[in-house]
Amino acid sequence: MDENIECAKCMKIVCRSKESDQGPPNCPTKTKRDIIQQALTEYDKPEVSEFARQASIQEFECYMNLPEGMTPRNPRVEEVAQFAKKMGYKKLGIASCIGLRHEAETLTTILENRGFDVVSICCKAGAIPKERIGITEEQKIAGPGKWESMCNPITQAEILNNEGTEFNIVVGLCVGHDSLFIKYSQAPVTVLIVKDRVFGHNPVMGLYLSGSYYRKLMRKEPLDS
Ligand code: SF4
Repeated sequence: MDENIECAKCMKIVCRSKESDQGPPNCPTKTKRDIIQQALTEYDKPEVSEFARQASIQEFECYMNLPEGMTPRNPRVEEVAQFAKKMGYKKLGIASCIGLRHEAETLTTILENRGFDVVSICCKAGAIPKERIGITEEQKIAGPGKWESMCNPITQAEILNNEGTEFNIVVGLCVGHDSLFIKYSQAPVTVLIVKDRVFGHNPVMGLYLSGSYYRKLMRKEPLDS
């Protein structure tokens, strides 16, 4: 069995350069050449090829080489609109959390102003009670005896599939609900907003603060605790 691949702990990062065989012993650039070559053939598929090419052009266009140094220029919402336009998409889908309905509305306006046809579907669509997926009274957020509609990411995906959206945008779906939406969406998915109830949907703050105010995130505990 190979050692775990641990790019996240790599101090060499030679994969950025031509000397890509100088990585650590568990470097996948050295040890996974067969998978790398196999994966590369996917980029030869016409639909994938153009998607990958435009994504890289999008990445390139997000920087300005100013005299004072390289400067980023596009917020992600701008990037989403630009990339969709590059790909020639006309009809976009938004899969949003009901808690971020105002953000979904603003995004809709931004995209409609750029000429896109926008379909949006909120997580509670269908109004199916949480009991349908085995949630108990004690597991309801509002408390026992209250009606709670389940988050319904598979329905969100299937409705956007039925509407024929060409590119779907996630707006604040919960952890796991987002996974199901991405799994069932036929159109490619990008994420504009990830839900973080504590850090204003900016989860990287948890990492930035894990050495100080949120040090508790670094605690060690067994998986089965
Ligand atoms: S691919 Fe190799 S060189 Fe690049 S980060 Fe991973 S281990 Fe390091």
